[in-house]
Amino acid sequence: MTLLPALRSVYADFPHTLLNNGGMIAAFILLGIGFYLLFEPGRRLSLRAALGHVIRRDFFRHRSSRVDMLHFVLTTGFWMPLVSAIVTVFLTINLLAFLTAHFGARATLLQNGLVIGLLQFAVIFVCRDFGAYVAHWLLHKIPLLWSVHRTHHSAEVLTFFTSARVHPLEYLHMQGFIAIFGGLGGGVLLYLTGTTLQAPPVLFLVGVELFLQTLGLAQHSHLPISYGRLDYVLLAPVLHQLHHSAEPRHRDRNLGSSLSVFDWMFGTIYVPRMRETYRWGLNEDELGENNPHRRLRDFYLEPARHAWRLLTRRG
Ligand SMILES: [Zn+2]
Ligand SMILES: [Zn+2]
Repeated sequence: MTLLPALRSVYADFPHTLLNNGGMIAAFILLGIGFYLLFEPGRRLSLRAALGHVIRRDFFRHRSSRVDMLHFVLTTGFWMPLVSAIVTVFLTINLLAFLTAHFGARATLLQNGLVIGLLQFAVIFVCRDFGAYVAHWLLHKIPLLWSVHRTHHSAEVLTFFTSARVHPLEYLHMQGFIAIFGGLGGGVLLYLTGTTLQAPPVLFLVGVELFLQTLGLAQHSHLPISYGRLDYVLLAPVLHQLHHSAEPRHRDRNLGSSLSVFDWMFGTIYVPRMRETYRWGLNEDELGENNPHRRLRDFYLEPARHAWRLLTRRG
């Protein structure tokens, strides 16, 4: 498998990707309407009012939102296919060679197809999500990585386009960690149980990921969707919205992706109080005119300038 055929296959699938995005946005809007009609205080029982609440016009017209929308188009059509092809090729070649050289064949431990399927799904899913947590933690803690990741945090309003407000370099880092953690966890499990990867758990994983991406769109919205006590296990939208807070007391909190259990285990969880208010953005100084990523060009290039300043200040 080389890079060019991999890229070609991703682009051949492009209409499908667009359809997927449309489907996810539609699912998010339905979720938001349901949330409004069921939980919003002072709600009116009208579809129009619900839609007006979910799609906030002032948010979509906000200056910070323009970068998100332009970048969303580039991400769907360019960055994601490129990065996923690079990561896929890298992993296919290297992990396969590694597993073949080190693990070899073992006797099958499990016979029950359902148990094997569930175990494979659970282990790979949790390992992938732990990979995302570690990757996100590093993005916040290593100054050079923060130079890149702060582009995600400079959004001053959250719309579903913000879910793709991720610098291309960050995709490489994040997808690399997710794929490697998932691949290693899955590889060790296969080796220990002497099984081969089954198709149903992989398909189930794809289905669950699609569902989680819809929730990911809700994570980048103003709808304070919470799961109650389950917030300590699953990363409800309200927890990631707080991750975008500009206020120092919320810094480096809720770093998980789909599960919040790692935040809970490593002490980085912050479950907001009922209707707790805060501003979104990079920090309290870099808002409005001081936002370093007001234009798409700055969104792409400012990380390099920021990183250079860090390096020269230290050197
Ligand atoms: Zn972050
Ligand atoms: Zn976010």
